[in-house]
Amino acid sequence: VPVTDVIDVCMNLGLMVSINQRLDAETMALVADEFGYKVEFVSVDVQEVIKEEEEDKPEDLKPRPPIVTVMGHVDHGKTSLLDYIRHTNVIAGEAGGITQHIGAYSVELEDGRKITFLDTPGHEAFTAMRARGAKLTDVAIIVVAADDAVMPQTVEAINHASAAGVPIVFAINKIDKPTADPERIKGELANMNYLVEDWGGKYQCQEISAKQGLNVDKLLEKVLLEAELKDLKANPNRRASGTVIESALDKGRGYVATVLVQNGTLHQGDIMLAGIYYGHVKAMFNERGQRIQEAGPATPVQVIGLNGAPQAGDYFNILDSDREAREIANKREQLVRMQSMKTKKHITLDEIGRRI
Ligand code: GDP
Ligand code: MG
Repeated sequence: VPVTDVIDVCMNLGLMVSINQRLDAETMALVADEFGYKVEFVSVDVQEVIKEEEEDKPEDLKPRPPIVTVMGHVDHGKTSLLDYIRHTNVIAGEAGGITQHIGAYSVELEDGRKITFLDTPGHEAFTAMRARGAKLTDVAIIVVAADDAVMPQTVEAINHASAAGVPIVFAINKIDKPTADPERIKGELANMNYLVEDWGGKYQCQEISAKQGLNVDKLLEKVLLEAELKDLKANPNRRASGTVIESALDKGRGYVATVLVQNGTLHQGDIMLAGIYYGHVKAMFNERGQRIQEAGPATPVQVIGLNGAPQAGDYFNILDSDREAREIANKREQLVRMQSMKTKKHITLDEIGRRI
């Protein structure tokens, strides 16, 4: 039907609309009804557009490093701990330390075992990732300052990890301080039904000083012990998939996204779809700023080549063709736009004025 007829019908229904305006579902049904049609609504999930790929066969699965998150109350020492590990655990024999903050990093212990740390600044990215149900963490380190107490954010962190079924290792920090009282912290945890090992419970706990680096090696040992119980595996011989950790527009390099490969291996040249963006992986860098050609399971990597900055928590996939990637990206973008329109309030008179 001519668009002017649609506008006429809308007017008759008391709606002032312009030619390129989107209507909500209820209005669409009303207008269609005027023309003798019924509207059928199909709901589409943005992430669902990707077909579930085949499951991995057990014989294709290889051990992978654990992905670890550090949580806890503000000022209890999360950043200090992550910084200490970043600066000391440099791969033996490899030139240069971890120079860049890319939202995640991997360290290799002397015996060759690796751990990947999520190192996302601020709570927002974590909240976004949790909200999207991204299951990124294998083990949670919960930091509690020994000169303070179990605080609201400590409780929140414990509850989040428990709800997600993520094993917890407690790090009782700042034991170098004269006012430190680790036993009091253990008592508080016990009152919450989190009985630590040296109190006869099942929760691993390590007293540390993140500032001095005291006992951090023992803490990592306990983290690896928890990880080993989970028998973490992935299939390096398939197309990569994983989660976006952070992304930004870099003046010189264009859009730069840090992604964490969770399964498969990511290669330079792959066609990546991440959230509503896509592109060829033009170059990849590790947390040491070195160019790499491929990244296997549990490896964080900076990717250059996407046509925009996906959100933290968006999934990424590798597709066969540009066309396919573009089509899905466009479809998702359209859905996102429609969803944001839907949540918009009714138009105001002022807005109508501006439209005319
Ligand atoms: P976050 O908010 O959890 O990231 O905590 P930070 O790592 O920023 O630490 C907060 C403050 O506590 C900083 O001033 C740190 O220098 C200090 N701090 C962290 N760990 C230790 C520690 O083991 N011993 C002492 N004495 N101070 C620490
Ligand atoms: Mg911090």
